[in-house]
Parts: sequence; C-alpha cells; structure tokens
Amino acid sequence: MNNFEYSRAADVAEAVRQIAADPGAKFIAGGTNLIDLMKENVARPTRLIDISRLPLSGVEDTKDGGLRIGALVPNSDLAYHPQVEARYPLLASALLAGASAQLRNMASTGGNLLQRTRCYYFYDTATPCNKREPGSGCAAIDGVNRMHAILGTSRHCIATHPSDMCVALAALDARVHVTGPGGEGVIAFEDFHRLPGDTPHLDTTLAADEIITAVELPPKGFARNYTYLKIRDRLSYAFALVSVAAALDLKDGRIQEARIALGGVAHKPWRDREAEARLKGEPATREAFTRAADAILRNARGFAVMEGIAIV
Ligand SMILES: Cc1cc2nc3c(=O)[nH]c(=O)nc-3n(C[C@H](O)[C@H](O)[C@H](O)COP(=O)(O)OP(=O)(O)OC[C@H]3O[C@@H](n4cnc5c(N)ncnc54)[C@H](O)[C@@H]3O)c2cc1C
Ligand code: SF4
Repeated sequence: MNNFEYSRAADVAEAVRQIAADPGAKFIAGGTNLIDLMKENVARPTRLIDISRLPLSGVEDTKDGGLRIGALVPNSDLAYHPQVEARYPLLASALLAGASAQLRNMASTGGNLLQRTRCYYFYDTATPCNKREPGSGCAAIDGVNRMHAILGTSRHCIATHPSDMCVALAALDARVHVTGPGGEGVIAFEDFHRLPGDTPHLDTTLAADEIITAVELPPKGFARNYTYLKIRDRLSYAFALVSVAAALDLKDGRIQEARIALGGVAHKPWRDREAEARLKGEPATREAFTRAADAILRNARGFAVMEGIAIV
C-alpha cells in the first residue's frame, strides 16, 4: 500500500498551484484509469488533487462557430449532447464505441486524453517496460504484441494510445486548452500526443504542472459524410485492435477534403496528411480509398514472435 495525500482544488488557479508545488502529485477526475494504475502499483502519486468539482463541465459555442468542451464533461454527456450529435456525429460515434456505459458516465474529456496505454507489460510490474521504468527495456517487442503499434514505433516502445475519442478529435483538428503557472495556452491536437522515440515515458506535450481546461472543435464537423469503425475482440468493453475515423467533404461525387485518423496502431492517434491529400479531387470510390489505405500503411512495420525469435 502506498500512502498518498488527498486534496480538493477550489478553482483552476488553485489546482495549478497545488500541482506545481508537488512534483509527485496527480490530478484525479473520473478516476477510471488512475485508480486502476494505483491499484496495480504502476502509478504511485504522493498526492491526489481532486479536480472533479471544478467548473469545467460546460459545452459552449465559440465565437467562430466551433464548440468548446470543458475538461470535466463526462464522455456520456458529450456523446449525447445535441450540438455534438448534430454537428460532430463522428465524435459522438467514437465516444459511444469506447468502454461501457458506466465507464463513460465517469470518464472525463481531459482524463480520456491522458489515459495511459493498455500494453499488458506496462501493467505488469514484474516485466521490463521503458514507459513505466525508463531504461528497463521493452518486453512487448519480442513478447505478446498483437494489440501493439505498427506505425511510428521506436526500439524503445511499441505501445498504442488506447482512446477512441481522441481518434475523432484528431480527425476533426481539435485544440487542447491548458493552464499552467505561466498562464493559459493552446496545443494543436496533432502536437498533444507524442511518438515514443527514446522517451516513451512521456505520452504528451502537456507539462507536469499544467491542467487541461477544455477541448475546442473548429466549426467544420463533417456531419454529412463520416464514419467511426472500430475492430476489437468483442463488441463492448474492449479496446481497439484498429479503429478509423474518416470524414469526407463531397461535391458531385468527388472528394473536396478528406480526414482520416487511425486508432490502435500508434503511440498517438495517427493522422496521415499525405494520404488525405491523395484523395482530394478523386471520385469517392473503393479504388481511391484502397489507394489511400495503402498510402497510410506504406511505413507500417509489424512485430511477431516465432519460436522465441522476434521478427520485425
Ligand atoms: C475496463 C475499461 C475499458 C475501457 N475501454 C475503453 C475504450 O474502449 N475506449 C476508450 O477510449 N477508453 C476506454 N477506457 C478508458 C476510459 O475512457 C478512461 O479511463 C477515461 O477516459 C479516463 O478519464 P478519467 O476522467 O476517469 O481519468 P482519470 O483516471 O481521473 O485520470 C487519467 C489521467 O488524466 C489526468 N487528468 C485527468 N483530468 C485532467 C485534466 N483536466 N488536466 C490534467 N490532467 C488530468 C490524471 O492525473 C491521470 O493521470 C476503458 C477503461 C476501463 C477501465
Ligand atoms: S511497448 Fe511500451 S509500454 Fe509496452 S512494454 Fe514496451 S515500453 Fe512498455
């Protein structure tokens, strides 16, 4: 049992003050990921700063016609919010593909962005894992890795980011609003999650003393032509083996703009702008989509184990 202190923040400024004062502290929102990690001894915060009562549960229109989603909006409320259902159905679909109804009731928008990988070895403290313990090695590369990354991997980590919501946010060009000791800032969604490189213990570009306050969506929601497809081992309560958020802007059967983001295949939601650009001006046909899919996977690299030998 690891002892920890518990405190509650009255406002965002106090939350930032508390986290900046204690490098071992962690925010807790819905607790659906952090508590599991603490129970498995993977996370050992010295203090939990409860942010669940901060006034960050609103969904508001922005001046430019977009939507600002507070960091504490539960995943279920967001999925069924009338503005999200009408203007950003891709996001609603992705949210409803995640976890279970009970978990979505607790899971917050900010916490979803920061949930950690589901790599089995990350949760197993008896095995080496560079993400959990930098420099210890990666048990997955020549271990059981059918749920692991095939794009953007490094020799230090092949873990994936497990979120469904984030795949849709990547496709929609969301932005993440943060507050730290230096004030407020905005991070483009594409820059928020990191590739593993040689520092796989760092999942995101959020500083340790910053809090997520909101996620902002631009006006364009691709509400007419979109899909979120998730392939998983069972129909509910399972993480993606692979998922795709796809959205098209069509005119006379031709693609004006395409957005494609993949989940379950990389350390971050995977956008490939080159593949998207190839679709521009093309007719919306199976052949065009097959060419785009081949383009996305051009640098894919799998990891398999046969008779104890790792094949890459
Ligand atoms: C059995 C199970 C199945 C699941 N299946 C899926 C699935 O299929 N798809 C999917 O996408 N997700 C799935 N999830 C994950 C779930 O969506 C996440 O656990 C949830 O979104 C995390 O949100 P939370 O508010 O509970 O975060 P918490 O557990 O409270 O926090 C997670 C992390 O975020 C930090 N944090 C939280 N809020 C903020 C903030 N505002 N600013 C800065 N830091 C913050 C915390 O310090 C912590 O490090 C599943 C979870 C479980 C337990
Ligand atoms: S893939 Fe990443 S998270 Fe999994 S064992 Fe390797 S270093 Fe750890």
